[in-house]
Amino acid sequence: MGKMRAVQVQVPKQPFVLVEKEIPTPKKGTVRVKVQACGICHSDSFTKEGLFPGIQYPRVPGHEIAGVIDALGEDAGNWKEGQRVGIGWHGGHCKICTSCRRGDFMTCANIQVPGISYDGGYAEYLIAPIEALALIPESLSPIEVGPLMCAGVTTFNSLRNSGAIAGQTVAILGIGGLGHLAIQYAVKMGFRTVAIARGKEKELLAKQLGAHHYIDSESHNVSSELKKLGGAKIILSTVTSTDAINAVIEGLSIDGKLLVVGIPEKPLSATALTLVGGRRMIQGWPCGTSINSEDTLQFSTMSNVRSMNQVFPLEKAEEAYQLMMSGKARFRVVLETGL
Ligand SMILES: [Zn+2]
Ligand SMILES: [Zn+2]
Repeated sequence: MGKMRAVQVQVPKQPFVLVEKEIPTPKKGTVRVKVQACGICHSDSFTKEGLFPGIQYPRVPGHEIAGVIDALGEDAGNWKEGQRVGIGWHGGHCKICTSCRRGDFMTCANIQVPGISYDGGYAEYLIAPIEALALIPESLSPIEVGPLMCAGVTTFNSLRNSGAIAGQTVAILGIGGLGHLAIQYAVKMGFRTVAIARGKEKELLAKQLGAHHYIDSESHNVSSELKKLGGAKIILSTVTSTDAINAVIEGLSIDGKLLVVGIPEKPLSATALTLVGGRRMIQGWPCGTSINSEDTLQFSTMSNVRSMNQVFPLEKAEEAYQLMMSGKARFRVVLETGL
């Protein structure tokens, strides 16, 4: 085989290095994917900053992958060369742990993640196990698909499993990479959607994304405002500020649930009285498996949900990553390989 370009972390906390490597050959149960686009997710910092235990370097990051199957290993199931596929955080499971035996592959004790367990999507090619592949609908471009493979499936899958039904109030805390998608999904799922963010400036965008209400958390007490709306059945938290999350819990309705998908730096706090008195809950949600990603892509096509993206060529990965880490990206950052 020939050579390919890849961006890798040689040593944690150092800038990415663009290298030439051998194009890998797919083994049994895997395919080779020619990567067209790969989103940059905040979780790529696990690889870049050396925060994930046991990671082997050098490592190519990236788990928001969109591309085309380019070669099949042995036993590749029904997959065919030329099919367009996406790969997200769930990049394979062990099939033998207790979760896998129960068919709950997302909580596999030995879950594989592209860019952490094996080389990911900041490259022209990667090898992925067949259970990690999601078929891409024709109408979505690779750049549109990238962010939906992690930010998209996380918000779509958590909301559709949240227990909220059409017409109920769902609040989205934060309008960033996750939040701007969550607002669109919540609206399209038929929820009365409340967007919560800091400052007056984001109100227009929230309304453009379809939100029915906007709460500026700088000038208003968010919980009181939610209570005025009857309380939120679901508050989907996409932010990393513990204080911002703690400030909304009192705004949950009876049987309301705080659903956490962003990872805050400090532990959350809620008074037991709030939880007990109104049977309120706090739940976390990981992203989803490849079939959940496929559902996300199809729903996004059908209901016209898209991520707002800033696109960079593969060789500008360092600049693109720094933009993502700065919190100033509007709203997802995507690398394209030009293939
Ligand atoms: Zn991610
Ligand atoms: Zn397992």
